[in-house]
Amino acid sequence: MTLAIAYSDQMKGYDFGPGHPFRSDRYARFMNLLRQRIDSAEFEVVEPRYASDEELLLIHDSNYIQFLRAESGGLWSPGREFLSPDTPLQPGLEKAARLIVGATLTAAEMSWEGRSPHAVGVGGGLHHARRNCGAGFCIYNDVAICVRSLMENQGAKRVMIVDTDAHAGDGTCQTFYEDPRVLFVDIHQDPRTLYPGTGFAEEIGEGKGTGFTVNVPLPPGASDDAYECVLDELLFPLAEEFAPEIIIRNGGSDPHFADELTDLGLTLKGLKTVGTKVGEVAKAVCGGKLVDLVGSGYNQAVLPLGWLALVTGPAGLDLELVEPFFFSLRVDHRLAETREIVKAAKDRLKPYWRCFAN
Ligand SMILES: [Zn+2]
Repeated sequence: MTLAIAYSDQMKGYDFGPGHPFRSDRYARFMNLLRQRIDSAEFEVVEPRYASDEELLLIHDSNYIQFLRAESGGLWSPGREFLSPDTPLQPGLEKAARLIVGATLTAAEMSWEGRSPHAVGVGGGLHHARRNCGAGFCIYNDVAICVRSLMENQGAKRVMIVDTDAHAGDGTCQTFYEDPRVLFVDIHQDPRTLYPGTGFAEEIGEGKGTGFTVNVPLPPGASDDAYECVLDELLFPLAEEFAPEIIIRNGGSDPHFADELTDLGLTLKGLKTVGTKVGEVAKAVCGGKLVDLVGSGYNQAVLPLGWLALVTGPAGLDLELVEPFFFSLRVDHRLAETREIVKAAKDRLKPYWRCFAN
């Protein structure tokens, strides 16, 4: 079975302009590296569709969509309540965002239908976008749209989201905060030290959804061992008990130690392990149905390597990964603190999960 990769050159329209940390050359750079390093028999590039209005409306308000569409045709006008200043609209941005949502939906459908159980949506993981506002370089929340589409259009009953982006997925978290059909596990840098400032361990969901949001904030510097501890001790047991029908993992290369916007400590090998372990979970609980969404990353040299490490992990593809930077700055892997965080999470979740009851 080949790996399906939903990608289009037109994604280059998702660009916030010169001087902004989020530029759109990332997509082509990743695809170029993929084509250089992976045998063409191992993957298939699938042309995504544009998300329809109906699909955007699964999560977003119609007046917000109309605003983005009108403003994206011209220049951004400041002072509008819909967007934070870090997410300035550019001509063509809204259209490209719809294509990225479409790529996520395309990948999810290919996985759900079993055509390619492991599928990748390039550019996805725009997890900061909310119902009626955009922030953190995200205008449409493709993760939330795809999960709701799986439930409403494909009949999915239990979906697990694993957010491994360095930043907490506040938009996604808010969307499913009271929904027990969606288990949201979010591993990120401590929100006291990084945008968006939410995603604390105490945020575990509300109402019927209590216990179905699992925030794992890690201290700056947390590296490969710390991530392995979280994945083995929390992700595996939770996934086994929840028994999702499909897993959506989002997050690019920004937990890497050389990322310029964050302070976590993963190596390329660590990113590959994250991919591999999430892939193992998917194989164990949902027939390998896994959608990988890669969009983030703020170190140009690391980004394509990091994305490749993540998406080749579940596929079991052998790949030599040479770090572009020396791993010398963060020798403290923060494993001891991470073990405490994991232990506290189990105690907190004990009332909702049998796997943590003893
Ligand atoms: Zn991020």
